[in-house]
Amino acid sequence: MADKKKLKRDTIITHAGRDPQRYAGLINTPVFRGSTVLFPDVESYEARDPGNYKVMRYGIYGTPTAFALEEAVAQLEGGHAAVALPSGLAAIAAALAAFVKTGDHILVADSVYGPTRNFCDRRLKPFGVEVEYYDPLIAGGIAKLIRPNTTLVFCETPGSLTFEIQDIPAIAAAAHAKAIPVLADNTWGTPYFFRSFERGVDVSIHAGTKYIAGHSDTLMGLIVTNEQYWLKVRKAVADYGYCVSPDDCFLALRGLRTIGARMQHQQQSAVKIARWMQSRPEVLRVIYPALEDNPGHALWKRDFTGAASLFGVILRPVPWEAVGAMINALELFGIGSSWGGFESLAIRADPARVRTATKWNPGGPLIRLHIGLEDPDDLIADLERGLSHLRQAS
Ligand SMILES: *Cc1c(COP(=O)(O)O)cnc(C)c1O
Repeated sequence: MADKKKLKRDTIITHAGRDPQRYAGLINTPVFRGSTVLFPDVESYEARDPGNYKVMRYGIYGTPTAFALEEAVAQLEGGHAAVALPSGLAAIAAALAAFVKTGDHILVADSVYGPTRNFCDRRLKPFGVEVEYYDPLIAGGIAKLIRPNTTLVFCETPGSLTFEIQDIPAIAAAAHAKAIPVLADNTWGTPYFFRSFERGVDVSIHAGTKYIAGHSDTLMGLIVTNEQYWLKVRKAVADYGYCVSPDDCFLALRGLRTIGARMQHQQQSAVKIARWMQSRPEVLRVIYPALEDNPGHALWKRDFTGAASLFGVILRPVPWEAVGAMINALELFGIGSSWGGFESLAIRADPARVRTATKWNPGGPLIRLHIGLEDPDDLIADLERGLSHLRQAS
């Protein structure tokens, strides 16, 4: 038997969460539909273990299709176990809710995904949870913000609009010194490019909607935890009644099988396009940790094994409408929410509006590009067309 702990990540992606001999020899765990699970007698029904979330007892706790996805993601990321939820945002909400009660204080990175901030401000604060936003670049300085009633530190690295890389090991060292867990939205890093648990994360959260499902056809959330916090998180997910359709789990697992090939390829194209953008006179700078001159590059290189194909471009000051004209002129880049699929996307954004602990003042308007699997030269030609419209409109 191969030692599972020593397998490289591309091998894990291919083999984890599969057991063909259990399912008539089929390579993929099939779609299992079901709500009620029947037991052979009342004794075994009454003896079912409420703390064991990996055996069949009722559909809400998952069927073998969900178990296969959860096992594969947990193994790839190096966590103890994972649970699937209906969306990335549901995963964030449930993970946060697992660790707070009235009177608690939590620390949340100022660069977090907007809906995460909405959940904290609109749902947690009215329940009497004190939410403090901190500078994402604070590193070990987080120690000074930890109070006796602080119950978690929430990170997102890099920020999905502004791309600050957080020093997760330094934050984790400070939090763990006070026995506080570190929760991290690892959607950009993915279980493939960021092995959270080796960096000190306790609870890793993914919008599986992005690179894991990878085909812009599935909404999915995943929470992966270490052993210490598994039951705390899994019970919270159960208490809220979250569960995921087996069809969506099947699609997410099908996507996961090719995450390595897709992300390596998309990274190559993204680096090429980011460098090209950087050379353009219309561009002030590109914010992408994979580029050598980025402030977060050294930390990214230390902690990640690759870069997602999502980055920001700061344009030289032009009217907001000119930025719109540029994006509207793109023919291959779609305009829309989300990312991590096979197709390229472009949006403009103004993160300054949502910051409270830090100022976001990059010196020009921000566009965010997601690079898909198209030929990068075609995408560059498309961006060239966009930039000519930008010049005409400014
Ligand atoms: C998209 C996204 C989410 C939410 O995922 P959904 O599945 O769309 O709910 C959470 N965090 C980050 C960083 C994201 O980009």
